[in-house]
Amino acid sequence: MKEHRSGIWESSELYHDAVTEFEEAAALMQLDPNIATRLKVPKRALIVSVPIRLDDGTVKVFEGYRVQHNAVLGPGKGGIRFHQDVNLSEVTGLAMLMTFKCALAGLPLGGAKGGIRVNPSKLSSRELQALTRRYTTEIQMVIGPHMDVPAPDVGTDGRHMAWMMDTYSFERGHTVPSVVTGKPVEIGGSLGRAESTGRGVIYTVLHAAKYLREKKRVNIAMDKTTTVSVHGFGKVGGVAALEAHMLGARVIAVSDIAGGVMNKNGLDIPHLQEYFAKHHTLIGFLDSDPITNEEIFTIPVDVLIPAAIESVITIKNVHQVQAKIIAEGANGPLSSEAIKILEDKGVFLIPDVLCNAGGVVVSYFEWVQGLQNYFWTEAEVNKQLAEMMEKAFVRVVMIQEQYKCGMKTAALMAGIDRISKAMLLRGLFP
Ligand code: NAD
Repeated sequence: MKEHRSGIWESSELYHDAVTEFEEAAALMQLDPNIATRLKVPKRALIVSVPIRLDDGTVKVFEGYRVQHNAVLGPGKGGIRFHQDVNLSEVTGLAMLMTFKCALAGLPLGGAKGGIRVNPSKLSSRELQALTRRYTTEIQMVIGPHMDVPAPDVGTDGRHMAWMMDTYSFERGHTVPSVVTGKPVEIGGSLGRAESTGRGVIYTVLHAAKYLREKKRVNIAMDKTTTVSVHGFGKVGGVAALEAHMLGARVIAVSDIAGGVMNKNGLDIPHLQEYFAKHHTLIGFLDSDPITNEEIFTIPVDVLIPAAIESVITIKNVHQVQAKIIAEGANGPLSSEAIKILEDKGVFLIPDVLCNAGGVVVSYFEWVQGLQNYFWTEAEVNKQLAEMMEKAFVRVVMIQEQYKCGMKTAALMAGIDRISKAMLLRGLFP
């Protein structure tokens, strides 16, 4: 099973963990070894140079990637990440997770991911636009509504998707809304997409709390008796914190890249969002104490939501974690070793491929709406999202009980099972 575990894909912790977890799931479900061999490597990986003229007149070249892991169920789907640490191996691991996530959610989509190795906070808006447009041109031969459909990820948002859609459409000579999802609503985006990932995270937390109550393991009600902490205050963490607050839970700590804030009685999240929008930092918020990104994982809470970046809970800090439910809002925030240790201690893990699938589910709705030129109400979007998240949650829990395995392994098994059936039916070309 380990023949592909070397070479260019293997350098990042995220890819290493993705393959380790895949191998565990594959062994437990006795996956056809020929299918396993194919699923450990991507179908296609493109590396591009992205030259742009900076505001000072000099030219700088950035490195960009688009990786398509598997397209057996449909076009590739996955975000575009702008971050200084992005590399081919990490993007490949993330593309692999997308394959299993789409399959688990029952979507007719494959797994892909892209990114540029750049610190976006160091570029002006004009430079970012130039970077996004040039990158789109460089990868345009592998993307398209029926090939591969990018979306926002860390460091990108609706603005970038609008520039990508415009660039791709310009080159085609007509408007092609379904080439990306996560677009602003005014140009074909879906109502509810911006909130979908964070909202989906909280749906899964509610299902987990109900499941744990039914099993008489712990009593978490997501009301004022429940404490929550959130690492990352962006598109996922910010919305998850707000949704938890709206349910009545006490969100006692949140942090972003610059550090965080804490209040044992619960932070006023709507006001914190206003404060953050104005000051671009959480620190200094009224009635709060500062907290570091190391400390946020150590506070005793009912629900911990790591929703920033990968590999933040590892063997180094896992023994300090004191949470009853961990909801992986981010992709790969816990290392494989950390997951094992926590699950052995009885912590309930909602794995990333399940927990943050709300984003790709509503991306799918946006893609469908764009192809049909028929748009749904936000209530319809949220209803369908809730139904699909519940179905996925129930499926994972059933597999976990059947195989007596961890939640991550069960979630991967659910996705792998669907893909492997499709691969066997379609056969191997030629
Ligand atoms: P974002 O750029 O909107 O927000 C990222 C947040 O993490 C920011 O608050 C940032 O300050 C913080 N952060 C970055 N580096 C950090 C560090 N070293 N320590 C602490 N905080 C740090 O990104 P996002 O879209 O919210 O994505 C967050 C995670 O969720 C990523 O793993 C992404 O792949 C995953 N995800 C996102 C979506 C989506 O729809 N946006 C869907 C599925 C999964």
